[in-house]
Amino acid sequence: RVLVGIKVDESHANWVTAYNMLTGIRVSVSRTNAKLDRELTNADFEAKQKSTFDITGNELVPSAKYDFKFKDYAPWVFRRLRSLFRLDPADYLMSLTGKYILSELGSPGKSGSFFYFSRDYKYIIKTIHHAEHKFLRKVLRDYYNHVQSNPNTLLSQFYGLHRVKMPYGKKIHFVVMNNLFPPHRDIHATFDLKGSTVGRDYKEDDLAKNPRATLKDLNWRRRQQHLELGIQKKRLFLEQLRKDVELLKRLHIMDYSLLIGIHDLSRGNEENLRDKTLQIFNPGGQKASTDETSSVLLRTPSKMENVRKARELREKIRQERPVPIGPADKMPNELGETHSRPGFVFNQDDGGFQATHEDNSPAEEVYYLGVIDCLTHYGVIKKIEHFWKGLSNDGSQISALPPEQYGDRFYNFVEGITVSAEEARRKALQKERE
Ligand code: ATP
Ligand code: CA
Ligand code: CA
Repeated sequence: RVLVGIKVDESHANWVTAYNMLTGIRVSVSRTNAKLDRELTNADFEAKQKSTFDITGNELVPSAKYDFKFKDYAPWVFRRLRSLFRLDPADYLMSLTGKYILSELGSPGKSGSFFYFSRDYKYIIKTIHHAEHKFLRKVLRDYYNHVQSNPNTLLSQFYGLHRVKMPYGKKIHFVVMNNLFPPHRDIHATFDLKGSTVGRDYKEDDLAKNPRATLKDLNWRRRQQHLELGIQKKRLFLEQLRKDVELLKRLHIMDYSLLIGIHDLSRGNEENLRDKTLQIFNPGGQKASTDETSSVLLRTPSKMENVRKARELREKIRQERPVPIGPADKMPNELGETHSRPGFVFNQDDGGFQATHEDNSPAEEVYYLGVIDCLTHYGVIKKIEHFWKGLSNDGSQISALPPEQYGDRFYNFVEGITVSAEEARRKALQKERE
C-alpha cells in the first residue's frame, strides 16, 4: 500500500506517468490560454485534442523527456470552468507544472484511483475509470450550466479532463480538481459522509495509529457530531446542497459523499506544523515514516509566512462577529495566495466556512467541505449490487440505492446533522424529557 503524500521524484515508480501528465497539462493548457477568448460552441463540449510528445518535438509540441500521447478533452469548456471558478491562468500552470513535484496519495478508496497533489497542494489529480471519463464528457454541458448558475456549488470543481498514454501502456484518464482542504491549516478531523450506515465505519481502534484517518457515518453518529451552523449559514449551505443534489439526481449519479475537514480554532495550527501534509492528506489514514515526511517537506519561507498570517487571521476571525453573509466577498484576501477565495460563500472564512452559533456569531470550528466522488453513474453494476445487498440488509441503508433515493437519503441526512450547538442541546434535552 502506498504511503501518504510521498514526493514523486525520479526514483518513484510513477514518476514518468506523473511527469507526462504535468507536461501534457502544461502544453495543452498554455495552448488554449494563448488564444483569444470566445463564446463556447456546441462542438466545444465534444472536442478533443491529441498531441504526440517525443524527444525531438515539432512546431506544435515541444520536446519532452519521454515518448507519450496526450489528449485534452473539451479544452475551451474547462478554460471557461477555470475562469468561472476564478482561477488565475498563470497561477494554475505554476501550481501544476512549476517544478514537476507532486505528491502521491496512492489509492485511498476502493476504486483503485490514484491521487496526486500539486506541489502547493491546491489541486488534486485523480485518475478515473474509463466509464467515469465517458460519463463526465456526457454530462459536461449540464455540469457547466450548473456551475454557471451556481458559482457556489459544493460539487467537485473540475478544471481539466485529460488522458495520457505511454508506449505499450494503458490509457490513463484523469481529472484535475480542487483540493478541499487548505494547505495552510491543520485539519483535526475528516469525515466522508454518505448518509448510509452499511460499511460506513472506520475502526476507531486504528485511530491511535492513524489519527488523521477519514472517518465515516457511523463514527460521526457515535461522536454525536454536528455541522454547527447558525440560522443564516445553515440556510445558505442547505439551499446550495439541495440544488447540487437535484442535479446529481437528475444525472443519475450516486455514491458521492460529503467530505468535511474540521479545523478546531482552539487547537490551532500548532500540533504538527512540521508536516502538514500528514494532517491534510491522509484519507486512508496511512502514516508516513519520518523519511517520507521529510521528503514531502519542501517548505519555502513563504509557506511559513502563510502559516503565521493564517494564525493572525484566525485571531481576527475569532474577534469578528457576526460573520458576513450573502455576497461573500467580504473576506479580504489577506493571505496573498488564494487560500481564501473571495466571492465564494463556502470559502469565505480563510478558505473555509466557519461554524456559527444559533445567533450567527462565530464558533470554534472552521469547516472545509464539499461533495466529492460524483462521477458514478447508476448503471448496470450498481443495479446488480443493489439486488445482492438487498437480500441481506435493510434496503434503505445500503449505499447502492437508485439515484433518486440516494440523493434524498443523502440530503436528509445532511440536513439532519446541520444544527447549531444550541439547537442540538435543545433537541437532546427534549429527547430526555420524552
Ligand atoms: P471509492 O469509489 O472507493 O469511494 P475513490 O477512489 O473514488 O474511492 P474518492 O471517494 O473520490 O475516491 O476519495 C477518497 C478519499 O480521498 C476521500 O474520502 C477524501 O479523504 C480524499 N479526497 C477525495 N477528493 C478530495 C478532494 N477534492 N479534496 C480533499 N480530499 C479529497
Ligand atoms: Ca468515495
Ligand atoms: Ca468512486
